[in-house]
This record gives sequence, C-alpha cells and structure tokens, in this order.
Amino acid sequence: MSVNYAAGLSPYADKGVCGLPEAFDSPEELKAKVTTLAQLVRESRYMVVHSGAGISTSAGIPDFRGPKGVWTLEEKGETPHFETTFEEARPSLTHMALLGLQRAGYLKYLISQNVDGLHVRSGFPRDLLSELHGNMFVEECEKCCRQFVREKVIGVMGLKPTGRYCDVVRSRGLRACRGKLISTILDWEDALPDRDLNKADNASRQADLALTLGTSMQIKPSGDLPLVTKRKGGKIVIVNLQPTKHDKHAHLRINGYVDDVMKQLMEHLGLDIPKWEGPTVCESSAAAPEGDADLKPTHALSVDVKVKGELVKEEKKRAVDGDAIKEQTLKVKKERKDPPLGIKDDK
Ligand SMILES: [Zn+2]
Repeated sequence: MSVNYAAGLSPYADKGVCGLPEAFDSPEELKAKVTTLAQLVRESRYMVVHSGAGISTSAGIPDFRGPKGVWTLEEKGETPHFETTFEEARPSLTHMALLGLQRAGYLKYLISQNVDGLHVRSGFPRDLLSELHGNMFVEECEKCCRQFVREKVIGVMGLKPTGRYCDVVRSRGLRACRGKLISTILDWEDALPDRDLNKADNASRQADLALTLGTSMQIKPSGDLPLVTKRKGGKIVIVNLQPTKHDKHAHLRINGYVDDVMKQLMEHLGLDIPKWEGPTVCESSAAAPEGDADLKPTHALSVDVKVKGELVKEEKKRAVDGDAIKEQTLKVKKERKDPPLGIKDDK
C-alpha cells in the first residue's frame, strides 16, 4: 500500500497550518541546546516522548505539513513523493535512539501520532507505547479487544472490518473467539482509542519532562498532551524545524533535524543506538529487561493475510479515488461524554 494512507480517509476540510518555513539553529547553537537537553534528560524522573510525522521523513515517509508534506503539496495542487512503502520503510535513527533511551531507563513512555508502525517494528515495547491514531499493521478484535500485529499493512482504514476474524482461544476445548477484526486507523470522525489515550494521559500527568519530536502539535487531543505535563509542573522541550503550536510553552526550543539532535543526545548520555535487524515486535517491557532476549520477529505473531474479494474491490475503488488526494488531517472532533484529558477543544 502507498504510504499516502491519507488518501483513503473521508473528505475533511480543516488540515491545519501547512507549509510554514523551516528554521535551523547554527551548529554551535544546536550543540549548546543538546547539551542542555542531555542535562534535562539526566535530571528527569519520568520522561515522556511525543512523536509526530517529522521523525519518519528520513525513513522516506512524507509528513503532512512540512514544506514537502502531503497537505502542503495538495494545497499547491502537487502530488507528494513517496520513496518507500510501509512494509519496506526502516526505522530512522530517531526511532532506534528512542528504543535505546527506553532500555537505558530514561524514556518511561512514548506517545505517537504516527500510523506508520515504525515504533512497533523497531522493537519498542508496546506496553510503553500509545499509538493515538492507530497503526497500519495492527487490527483489533471487536469482541475481545485483542490486537494483532501483522507483517503487512491491514489495507483498511477508519476502524472498519478487515474481513478477518479473531482466532484467540481463551481456554482449551473452547471455540475460538471469532470476533470481527477491525482496522485501528482513525478516520476524521473517530474517537481516539480509550486504552491508548488513557495511558498517554496518565503518563503525561506523571511526567516531569515532555520531549516532542517532529510534530507541530496541531491535532487535538494528541498535540495538547505535553501541556498536561507542564500544568503538573514539568518541562516541555520541542524539537521541530517548523514553528509549533506550543512553542511559547517550551522550556527549550530546538530547531534541528530530529536525527541530528538524537544522535548528539545519545553521545552526551554515553548510550549506543541499537541496530535494527529487521521488523521485531516486543509486547512487554517486563518480558525484555535486557532488550534483545525476548524480541520476536513479526512473523511469529502474524497470520497469513488473506484478502477477501470485497477487500480487493474496496482497494481498487480507493486507488481510483486516491488520484486526487482527498483527505488528510486526523481530526478528532468527536465530542466525548467524559473528556479524559480535561482539554478544551477550541473548535
Ligand atoms: Zn477476539
């Protein structure tokens, strides 16, 4: 599937601010700022990282609002350039550095708006990760809520049935669950996944340091989670080339490529960046105290992806619709009865 997953979403007009100019700190400035960041990381008791599309551009996946972002180009009537597919994309230096920071005990929780699956495929423990907008490789059972990480993209969006069924057997001799599996990718109108959002909110409340990487924080409520940390007395550090919505709240604002910043940060902390040896899935941080021992290749968790006739039809239809890139921004506008974040949507 094309990395332009946005083309499969339903039409929605508000894409936020796109195409703002990028700014770069001088090499000296960058060095000084990363030194400060390293100090903050060392002193932190509970660091949470918030990642956005900017950390995957070096993996060949376009962002949305950058100078060459999907929506920036769309506004100009141009088509974005795709250098890879989701299956072929390799985790960036930043993805792997985050895994290193988690293993070293600095990074306590990771919150991502990315649907590209690269955090999971890098081997980052899934119990310490909230994927607030879903994951192209994950489908979920409607009945028992079990999630399945697949080797290939699910190919369906908007929490719709994937055409497959849950094969979990709860105890011996019983029939398999057989619940319908649904895509975990949100469409505009879909509410965020409760489990992931609650965990992200809790982590943000506990955190004394929120580090945001490659996100302009325009999407709610994901983009407002760092403010929860600040309200509780913590600090926000923002690494992004373009201006972000919360720059004025930042204790430290770094204008640089995330990969450059993370490389220097790891050197400061005296940490190695783990090497990527192909897609791996780590379900639990407890199961992998030293890292590699319990990492499993994804095929160990996957089943054969059988595409049903209707799914193929849908894909074909989408390929036609996709000619004009229709839609984008994961707008989470659904009103919740009980806002878990206490964040007011100013829409
Ligand atoms: Zn099930």
